[in-house]
Amino acid sequence: MPLTRCVEGRNFKHAMENPNPEKSPQESGEPMGLIASFQVDHTQIVPGIYESRTDAIGGDFATTFDVRMKTPNKEPAIHPNAMHTIEHVVATFLRNDAEWKDRIVYWGPMGCLTGCYLIVKGRPKPQELQPLLLRAFEYLRDYEGEVPGATPVNCGNYLLHDLPMAKWEAARYVEILKTGARYEYVKTKRIDTAGGVFFDA
Ligand SMILES: [Zn+2]
Repeated sequence: MPLTRCVEGRNFKHAMENPNPEKSPQESGEPMGLIASFQVDHTQIVPGIYESRTDAIGGDFATTFDVRMKTPNKEPAIHPNAMHTIEHVVATFLRNDAEWKDRIVYWGPMGCLTGCYLIVKGRPKPQELQPLLLRAFEYLRDYEGEVPGATPVNCGNYLLHDLPMAKWEAARYVEILKTGARYEYVKTKRIDTAGGVFFDA
């Protein structure tokens, strides 16, 4: 079954309701479950920092944050070139931040281009990430010079960059982080499951 079949329409089987637990959906031909990050009502999301999920790995946790910069489907998404620059500059900052660098697992863009994912070691609250992300986006807002890693040796598409637009987006998100960042999904219920936590709209 092509993967696209599984992410269109609304009648998804709940991720925890695999009717044939012996086999994965890929093996059984059953529709795949809706993954946790799609289980949030995206018509209710506004810019902010949200805990998307927590995974237990060995004796520790990895927490995925939804660093949402745009209101989905209601305002223009971030241009791919600007998003690529946001990825490079903010990743560089996060991996060099004295306080957090050892806890940064991953930073990268959402495919919908309305924000980024940040995965950190442990289980910090979204509010604890606000000072870090404020520093990171202020760094990008004020950044001058070459985009780090934007060379054919370091990047898979080194011409796909737009620093001025990335700086504009960063300035806008800085204001949101300072004045109006949300930290809880609107009207959502948190569901605890074995080995993980996710939100359901
Ligand atoms: Zn790149």
